[in-house]
Amino acid sequence: MDFKIGCHLSVSKGFEAMGKDALSIGANAFQFFTRNPRGGAAKEIDTNDTQALLTLMKENDFATPLAHAPYTLNPCSADERTRKFALSIMKDDLLRLETLPHSFYNFHPGSHVGQGIETGIQQIISQLNTVLIEEQTTKVLLETMAGKGSEVGSRFEELKEIIDGVKLSEKMGVCLDTCHVNDAGYDIVNNLDEVLSEFDRIIGLDRLCAIHLNDSKNPFESHKDRHEKIGQGFLGLEAIERIINHQKLRDIPFYLETPNDLEGYGEEIKLLKSLRR
Ligand code: FE
Ligand code: FE
Ligand code: ZN
Repeated sequence: MDFKIGCHLSVSKGFEAMGKDALSIGANAFQFFTRNPRGGAAKEIDTNDTQALLTLMKENDFATPLAHAPYTLNPCSADERTRKFALSIMKDDLLRLETLPHSFYNFHPGSHVGQGIETGIQQIISQLNTVLIEEQTTKVLLETMAGKGSEVGSRFEELKEIIDGVKLSEKMGVCLDTCHVNDAGYDIVNNLDEVLSEFDRIIGLDRLCAIHLNDSKNPFESHKDRHEKIGQGFLGLEAIERIINHQKLRDIPFYLETPNDLEGYGEEIKLLKSLRR
């Protein structure tokens, strides 16, 4: 497959406009927030607009669109109202996403806030078993987390346990964030092969659907989660070059979430294309 590379974009001007933004910077992939990242009301979806985006994507051989849930949702909060809020937003997002069939929906598993990792995992499983339906075309992705505070999902074993608990597990996948796994303590700079073997052994590489391609402002195992521009952080350009060309990763779509405006993303995409073999 050819190189699928894009970045996080704003959908505020509409879906087709977002596709045009992607094209303007040489991207053939994009991620967007389903609503205000803090979890506010979602805009009405204009199906003419989503149809126009689907046409643009087809004509330009785009990767699967990646919708990102508001990152403040916490399906494993100790507070029941917070958990219910996460559930209702996710349910609504999944319903609306069917206007862009066969998309990915990525979410942060959540923070167990002192309840313990096992309770957190069980609450996430219970939420997924409530919102996932047989008819949906969307695949729901668990994002690998940095392990900041009480975040669930910084170990591959935790993601595997969640997937195993979901009844409709064929609807589940994983999005690997390169900044997060570095911060979580997976050495993708010096031991990429080993990390991928571990992922394969524990979760299975067939579950890996998307890659958030970010450098990290912090060193290995720092449990911080602060993204840096490509080549300017603790991963460095050589490691990122190995990632985008790795036999086991090269056919997976890459989505940048680096601190950039549209023009900055365009420059990173150009750089990454020049490094692609
Ligand atoms: Fe994320
Ligand atoms: Fe990410
Ligand atoms: Zn992050």
